[in-house]
Amino acid sequence: MPQTPYIGRFAPSPSGDLHFGSLIAALGSYLHARSQHGQWLVRIDDIDPPREIPGSADRILATLERYGLEWDGDVLWQSQRHDAYRAALDCLYQQHKSYYCTCTRQRIAQTGGVYDGHCRTLGLGAENAAIRLHQTLPVYGFDDDFQGHLQANTALAEEDFIIRRRDGLFAYNLAVVVDDHFQGVNHIVRGADLIEPTVRQISLYQHLGYPQPGYLHLPLAVNENGDKLSKQNHAPALPEGDPRPVIINALNFLGQTPPENWQDYTLPLLLRWAVTHWTPADIPRENA
Ligand code: GLU
Ligand code: ZN
Repeated sequence: MPQTPYIGRFAPSPSGDLHFGSLIAALGSYLHARSQHGQWLVRIDDIDPPREIPGSADRILATLERYGLEWDGDVLWQSQRHDAYRAALDCLYQQHKSYYCTCTRQRIAQTGGVYDGHCRTLGLGAENAAIRLHQTLPVYGFDDDFQGHLQANTALAEEDFIIRRRDGLFAYNLAVVVDDHFQGVNHIVRGADLIEPTVRQISLYQHLGYPQPGYLHLPLAVNENGDKLSKQNHAPALPEGDPRPVIINALNFLGQTPPENWQDYTLPLLLRWAVTHWTPADIPRENA
């Protein structure tokens, strides 16, 4: 039997420029896909206009190009995918796998911070309501290709989580699952900051009847204070100029041993070296 071809992806949100932390996710997912002769797709997760920084999607794509990280096919934009998200929501609703909820944040905070299913049987209408998944297939843990078996918080695993927000925006968990399935993504390599929602995403795969992808969560880059490099923490954008020293830093962060004479390598040759020598087993566990 022919093996299913590997399809991986990098899916940044356009809420700021790429920084060293997001480069780790981009490079790690790229190397993992390419080392398995797989495809590597790029998707722009622009489903949350209020959090978007104008121009950052184009700058992210230009930076990936400047770093020689060539993707396969066309970029998919989540802002163009609303019909697909709506279809998935309809499908869940018709199968009684979701319901409208008008609970406020304050009410949920008062009941301990985890949603208690208050609106599940009330038969509420769409007006001024979020949509929640009726969680009948909770997933309590999963096997990560780098982190090993990861156990989720039981209350969070069982919670009827939001799949469409009260403001009408589609929830990240819904959009990411619908799109990864649509794009045929069967291997998700991303930062460890996304471990927590993974069990919810796996349960959505099950509710929607989609085959489940594999997961590999990379360690997170942190700053001097031990805080994750993120847009919220004002991580600096990747520097202008020669991308090779930054790629060397990223390879070192990922536990790889780039050639000492890397200055003699062109950018494409350096990336080729990194693909052929990619050793996920060497990714350091300290910051995992
Ligand atoms: N767009 C999400 C983010 O930038 C990542 C999506 C994913 O990798 O699942 O945080
Ligand atoms: Zn409710």
